Amino acid sequence: MIKAYENHEVWFVTGAQLLYGGDAVVQVDSHSQKMVDGMNESGILPIKVVYKGTSNSSKEVLDVMTRAESDPKCVGVITWMHTFSPAKMWIHGMQKLRKPLLHFHTQFNEEIPWDEMDMDFMNLNQSAHGDREYAHILARMRKGHKTVVGYWKDAKTLEHIAVWQRVAAAWADAQDCLILRFGDQMNNVAVTDGDKVEAEMRLGYHVDYMPFSEVMTYFEQVADADVDALVKTYFEEYDHCSKIEDKESLEYKKVWNSAKAELTLRAVLTAKGAKGFTTNFDDLGDVAVESTGKGFDQIPGLASQRLMAEGYGFGAEGDWKTAALYRTVWYMTQGLPQGCSFLEDYTLNFDGEKSAILQSHMLEICPMIAEDKPKLEVHHLGIGVRKTPTARLVFTSKQGSGIAATIVDMGGRFRLIAADVECIKSKPLPKLPVASALWIPQPNFEVGAAAWLIAGGTHHSAFSYDITPEYWEDYAEIADIEMLHISKDTTLESFKRDVRINEIYYLLNKALK
Ligand code: MN
Repeated sequence: MIKAYENHEVWFVTGAQLLYGGDAVVQVDSHSQKMVDGMNESGILPIKVVYKGTSNSSKEVLDVMTRAESDPKCVGVITWMHTFSPAKMWIHGMQKLRKPLLHFHTQFNEEIPWDEMDMDFMNLNQSAHGDREYAHILARMRKGHKTVVGYWKDAKTLEHIAVWQRVAAAWADAQDCLILRFGDQMNNVAVTDGDKVEAEMRLGYHVDYMPFSEVMTYFEQVADADVDALVKTYFEEYDHCSKIEDKESLEYKKVWNSAKAELTLRAVLTAKGAKGFTTNFDDLGDVAVESTGKGFDQIPGLASQRLMAEGYGFGAEGDWKTAALYRTVWYMTQGLPQGCSFLEDYTLNFDGEKSAILQSHMLEICPMIAEDKPKLEVHHLGIGVRKTPTARLVFTSKQGSGIAATIVDMGGRFRLIAADVECIKSKPLPKLPVASALWIPQPNFEVGAAAWLIAGGTHHSAFSYDITPEYWEDYAEIADIEMLHISKDTTLESFKRDVRINEIYYLLNKALK
């Protein structure tokens, strides 16, 4: 179990019926408990599984699913049919359950005891047909779920459940998630915009804005001593040139301003209970900051970097969809080693088979993906309403494979695009001192980038080294949204066909529902 998920649990419900007598159900109950204990003791599942008994009738199924729906600790339900559990009894319960569902096709007994097997054994090991009857009603009801097939002691099997648990936890987190926007969308930008009402209905999170005048009321309450202390923490945590510690220098003043911006944002996010935010370099309040010292002297880039590392969702230029998606990526990868970040497709590097895309932003890259200790530096930033130096963490990223993901609003539906990428060694940028990553889209630059463009993907993404495509498959299944995956197997011919088929599928799906 992972500490970050200790308030979550996943329920395990066994389907049975009383046809084989009460004794059989008692034994099934004990088998189920042993299976759940074994799963919990495997060390593979990040979230505790809680056994909720056998369900033997429509009323019992409805009762347990109603409790699952209303229990805030429960982030999802695993169902397993030990026996032929006539599936009409699952209809009302499955209608009630809206939380993530996993159908586990397994069996208590591993290998067939060929010489000893009798009818008593059969009455206790009927998943082969029982799970089919149940799966039929899920298919018949068009009930979204994940199917995991395998023996319950196998690590490989449990790893599929572990992925789903993490996604289910992130889904629960998103249902109670506020994304605050400091400023609006960058003017005229299409791809990062979309339907915020549909986002709340479909994906769970709520998006609000906060005027800068209100941010400034928090700014004014930040104590100088707290800013001094945070600056000291920066100097302890990050490599830096000793001259920026000189309190008379411009650099020190700029680091100090960044620390005050961080404390301001923390105070706002805490007061509002927000789990993510967006900024906009064109909207930092209209205070004459240079003369009065009141207000942000530049976009709060260092704050965004540090808050991202703590799990706050972040999207630049008002990009609330990426802010929410980053929060989800961070939430589901807690305890995993490599890290995640908001990134932007910055500039292209044509180099034959190594052709790659530099990933960066003006300032806001999460230090979790840094290869080495980040450097705290102060440099000029000439974009936006303020044209002045500001502090930032500078580093290059780790190498290795990862996945970049984005959600776009296609009008009438959301489309999740997940692209496998290979991060290669990036280089320092002495004249453009920002954090960066450098990746080759899979299967190669030409096909990977073309597929992303055909899908209408953003220039912003939520990136992680720690996840596999299965995470996004599970997420798209739970959210019931379109997913396009760009992988080593992608060809443009098949990808274009998928895009066109999906167009029809989602139109028809909507008409049927
Ligand atoms: Mn951007």
